[in-house]
Amino acid sequence: MIKTDVVVIGAGPVGLFAVHQLGIIGLKAEVIDNLDKIGGQCIELYPDKPIYDIPAIPECTGESLTKNLLEQIKPFKANFHLNERVQAVSKEKNNWKITTSKKKVFLSSSVIIAGGVGSFEPRKFLITGIEKFENNSIFYSVKDKNYFKNKKVCIFGGGDSALDWAIELSKISEVILVHRRNEFRGAEHSSSVARILEKEGKLKIKTPFQINSIEGENKIRAITIKREDGKTEKIPTDCVLGFFGLIMKLGPIAEWGLNLEKKTIPVNTENFQTNKKGIFAIGDICSYPGKLKLILSGFHEGALAARACFKLAKPEETYRFEYTTTSKSMQKRLGVKKND
Ligand SMILES: Cc1cc2nc3c(=O)[nH]c(=O)nc-3n(C[C@H](O)[C@H](O)[C@H](O)COP(=O)(O)OP(=O)(O)OC[C@H]3O[C@@H](n4cnc5c(N)ncnc54)[C@H](O)[C@@H]3O)c2cc1C
Repeated sequence: MIKTDVVVIGAGPVGLFAVHQLGIIGLKAEVIDNLDKIGGQCIELYPDKPIYDIPAIPECTGESLTKNLLEQIKPFKANFHLNERVQAVSKEKNNWKITTSKKKVFLSSSVIIAGGVGSFEPRKFLITGIEKFENNSIFYSVKDKNYFKNKKVCIFGGGDSALDWAIELSKISEVILVHRRNEFRGAEHSSSVARILEKEGKLKIKTPFQINSIEGENKIRAITIKREDGKTEKIPTDCVLGFFGLIMKLGPIAEWGLNLEKKTIPVNTENFQTNKKGIFAIGDICSYPGKLKLILSGFHEGALAARACFKLAKPEETYRFEYTTTSKSMQKRLGVKKND
């Protein structure tokens, strides 16, 4: 069991800045995210797109914003638990008990939900009984490319992930790229590289085909793919990778007894507490009159929620408002070396 002051659910920009606001007032946070990387929508949906409305930063990308937020919270040494979805949140005396999909348990006086639009989950193959192959021969992401070395791999999808992994894995595996259309949706450059590899015999491409059925007991032995005109082809294969994009699901958050309003969590604007004492919601997931789904609003919400967490984590201490410019204790927590 991991005991901490605050568990932050969601490592998007708002969850990250909340770690900063908790850190400067002396609270320790553990951050949990379902994704395999930090940054939420900024990294998953628009890493290269420019953002023009972060205060005092005229222009940055989703990726550079995430990098800078991570740099800013470095002094607080928050632990990140990625690839883990928070499944349950329940009361345990004066604390909240938070359980993840990997059965990790956390105990904290406060929980900050910065879950955005819910957890991102891969769109999956729609074939009955396919779940039993998941994570042994069917995958929706690549955690370690060496797992696929010297194997027969069928990759489905027409976007950047499918193309990038087909190109990358073709260096170490026997790859067939299958897409339901003749044209790929991914970057032009990647699709022309894939076509060149096909010509060189380093990659096979099957279009316009879709998966039709799967053969195998514990692991996949072969798959059958089908064209619109009904033509089928059987392909012996060891692994299947599906890259059909992500769907956003509110997921287990809906089962924690919180009030919900159109897939968002209503909060009060004094401290962003939900209908449960000690559970706060900030960023895109919270709602209140006038809410703007902008990163800058989420930063403000995190600042106020953090102060409310202080009262629950340290009930015997009085919270004192301070500026980072002049507060010695804040600067010490930030690791500032020299003060005048
Ligand atoms: C294309 C695009 C462009 C945008 N441009 C701008 C812009 O210019 N300016 C601006 O201010 N905003 C912009 N936005 C909106 C901005 O990205 C969001 O307001 C912001 O990402 C919200 O941050 P967040 O931290 O609240 O949530 P998110 O970024 O959505 O992060 C939430 C995280 O919580 C995780 N999560 C959810 N549920 C669970 C669970 N149960 N367990 C574990 N993890 C969970 C998710 O996996 C996700 O990583 C844009 C959005 C898009 C899509």
